[in-house]
Amino acid sequence: SGLFNPLKKINEEIFSYAALKQKEIDELKKLEAFRREFIADVSHELKTPIFAAQGFVHTLLDGAVKDKSVRNRFLKKAAKSLDGLDILVQDLLTLSQIETGEIKMHFESFDIRQLAEEVIDQFENKAEKKDINLKISKHAPEEVFVYADWQRINQVLTNLISNAIKYSNKNGKVTIDFQITTSHVVTRVRDTGEGIPPEHVKRIFERFYRVDKSRSREKGGTGLGLAIVKHIMEVHKSKVEVSSEPGKGSVFSFKLPREATLQTSPAE
Ligand code: ADP
Repeated sequence: SGLFNPLKKINEEIFSYAALKQKEIDELKKLEAFRREFIADVSHELKTPIFAAQGFVHTLLDGAVKDKSVRNRFLKKAAKSLDGLDILVQDLLTLSQIETGEIKMHFESFDIRQLAEEVIDQFENKAEKKDINLKISKHAPEEVFVYADWQRINQVLTNLISNAIKYSNKNGKVTIDFQITTSHVVTRVRDTGEGIPPEHVKRIFERFYRVDKSRSREKGGTGLGLAIVKHIMEVHKSKVEVSSEPGKGSVFSFKLPREATLQTSPAE
């Protein structure tokens, strides 16, 4: 009837409005749960080094350590915990600054091979200590220009190379390679390290996710390195990919445009 139809329409509208509101409420609830979980995670991560440093300092204050060499060892351990705390807070700040867009990006053209060489120089000592052969592939082109934020890509390479060394055994190999296509450059960081079990691969880019919590912490890891890498690649409209085989090693790769004109179109 003529009366029935408009009523039905109003009813439908009310229902779809209610559904929309419910969706918004669910979305907010999810965000709230995420925020709560994040604060719980951060507090827990902060507590670990604080608790350790506290333990060493209080033992020293209680006078339990009369022996000078033992005392020095305790002080060194306390200092190491505080250094770890400093790195953790720095990583947290970096992550939140990238997320909120507080960090202004400076896109420019630069030679990523040259940047990789500089990062390699910084890790020379660490690699040498583990007899790791850290180098740029001999097949890599002499010049590899990309259009990106130099400082942020410096951070990406630093985090990936640091991990490659951290999760490699003695006598391992870490190789950086570049593949130039018509519009893009793919950078690969390859290691012959312990690899990542398939069930963990998807999650390693989450904040504080580690395959082996205690071992990663022991190696000085904050669990934020790859989350930072992921975010940096996102602001470059790109992503980081990983392929890994337990016991054999891992390859982390990311794609950047060669030219400024391509910056606005997302990397395929
Ligand atoms: P962390 O500070 O723990 O290294 P990351 O976010 O950098 O945190 O990495 C997350 C986890 O992913 C690490 O704890 C480790 O388990 C795994 N991982 C990262 N890079 C590698 C790699 N090159 N080889 C093996 N495992 C890796």
